[in-house]
Amino acid sequence: MLTAEYERLKSSYREVFLDTANEIRAVVESVRPSDFEGDIFKSYEIGSVGFNWQQIVLSVLDIRYCGYKKSGLRQIQSFRDECNCVGCGVCCNFAVSEFSPEELKLKAENGDNFASQFISVFVPYKDMNEVEKIYPEYVQMLKDNGESGYYFYHCQKVTDDNKCPDYENRPQICRDFPDNPIAFLPKTCGFKDWKLKSESVSLKLNAEAEIINFYKEKIKELY
Ligand code: SF4
Ligand code: SF4
Repeated sequence: MLTAEYERLKSSYREVFLDTANEIRAVVESVRPSDFEGDIFKSYEIGSVGFNWQQIVLSVLDIRYCGYKKSGLRQIQSFRDECNCVGCGVCCNFAVSEFSPEELKLKAENGDNFASQFISVFVPYKDMNEVEKIYPEYVQMLKDNGESGYYFYHCQKVTDDNKCPDYENRPQICRDFPDNPIAFLPKTCGFKDWKLKSESVSLKLNAEAEIINFYKEKIKELY
């Protein structure tokens, strides 16, 4: 079931990405100097018409992204405020990371705040059977997509009835979960509606960031 969800998400992102790329291309063209026919990704003499056009494009795209980011994040937060944790405990018993325990420890030692909070509560599972019992659909999705290299963790504090024994002092990463509407949430999670409502805003923000960053990097490489 999550595999189908993954495919749907990929296809939605492809659509949003193409639409956004076209919109941004139109913005780039809208500030093109009249009678100038050069390519946006070509190197021009500093101070020339082509060079100045590129600088205008960079600034217009920056303003565009800041606007989208501000309103998008506000919308996502307001949808989130409408939902609540129902205490199903899945996120306490099932955390996935691309980093091994050793890598997380190293990151924490190097000042990574997320890694430091993560290893303060989460420990790695020793047995994959245990992982599959908690969130079988997720494990199946990874298998279906041939994805590997993930590490599975569980909180060492959560009680057998899925309660947090130190709820008032839980780390910020626990308070913030879930923080990404594109991530897969267990069907028991109280933030499912938030995900549904926020997904398109989040996909759009990701596409904006990815494409605008591409323009910035490509133009920067020319000089
Ligand atoms: S510290 Fe509390 S909220 Fe955080 S993962 Fe553990 S049990 Fe869950
Ligand atoms: S998965 Fe969602 S509802 Fe369940 S404990 Fe975590 S945040 Fe709360």
